[in-house]
Amino acid sequence: MSPTNILQLLQRLEVLIIIAASIAVILTVIIMLRKGRGEKRSSAFEEELDSIKVTSGLEEAVGEEKPAPVEKGAGELSEEELSKLEARVIESLMIRGALRPLPIPGSKEGGHYPELAGVSEKDAQRVIRGLLEKGLVIEAEREFSAVACPICGSCMQVAFISCRNCGSFKVEETRYYRHTCGYIGPESSFKTKLGFICPYCRGTENIEAYYRRYRCPDCGAEFEEPNIAFRCGSCGSLYDEQTMEIKPFRRIESSREMLAEYEKVSNAVNKQIELLKQRGYEVERPVSLVGESGVIHKFDAVAKRDDETIAVVSSLGEPLTQVLIRLGVARSDLKLSKIILVTNNKPTATEREFARSLGIEIVEAA
Ligand SMILES: [Zn+2]
Ligand SMILES: [Zn+2]
Ligand SMILES: [Zn+2]
Repeated sequence: MSPTNILQLLQRLEVLIIIAASIAVILTVIIMLRKGRGEKRSSAFEEELDSIKVTSGLEEAVGEEKPAPVEKGAGELSEEELSKLEARVIESLMIRGALRPLPIPGSKEGGHYPELAGVSEKDAQRVIRGLLEKGLVIEAEREFSAVACPICGSCMQVAFISCRNCGSFKVEETRYYRHTCGYIGPESSFKTKLGFICPYCRGTENIEAYYRRYRCPDCGAEFEEPNIAFRCGSCGSLYDEQTMEIKPFRRIESSREMLAEYEKVSNAVNKQIELLKQRGYEVERPVSLVGESGVIHKFDAVAKRDDETIAVVSSLGEPLTQVLIRLGVARSDLKLSKIILVTNNKPTATEREFARSLGIEIVEAA
């Protein structure tokens, strides 16, 4: 490499360092903004909590007992378990083409993807988010929406009818029946010891439910549609159709092209790992390593032989220069001998040169 080339490379590196620094600043700002938003949201929830009225009648009817709060610690799969799960989901996406959510009656979650059965909602979301970020899947249309508690988000609830006028839970219903002769009357007018008989023509055939009316014994109001109220089975809060949360469940569709790219890259990664094993390296996969800076770096595999440590990492779609900057930092932070980057991107001559200067070998997935 001639001195002018080195000078050019250094100038380029200077520019790249500035870019990396700007990325770090932007990320910090985003994290701070997110935190701020989170706080605002919880205070909004508190306001809602205050605005929800609790009727003493219902309190007696339902009892004071509150179910245990949402368990913590759930939804914490290790990085390794998570990537195994991701591989399993990708496999079924290749076969079925989509993840279809199903409602789960009586559950806090309200619904789940069968492919992610047995996995906590939090971990399931981590996997799906990961797939979305890699461009392997897209969020398709809504399959259904579940009613969720506005305080804790649980979909486990009991639904009650209440008075539209005064909020009482003592509302009673009256069914009206109709006979083919034209007579319409409340259930009581048809009921006899001998069964259902039309009070007008004494007929017993073809008597059918016509409509229902509701009456509140507390305020005397009558209405055709009662108010629906919910008691949360997780936190005990009371909410109604106005305050309920709507929890959408969407179908997750695979992007066929990206899955094919993914397969190409992961085959190439496997090939690299095989080569390293053949050369006597001990290979672990996937691996997260903590650098001197305390930053965690993730790799598809890490190969060790004596004092030598080689990391294998794959990149899908992400701009190469960006990946190289990140890997350059990781390499010096971890004092790695070399990094093998498997990518579906075709590197430019400049990118190749840049990679070489950082001790990174680029392998193109064929
Ligand atoms: Zn009433
Ligand atoms: Zn009749
Ligand atoms: Zn709740």
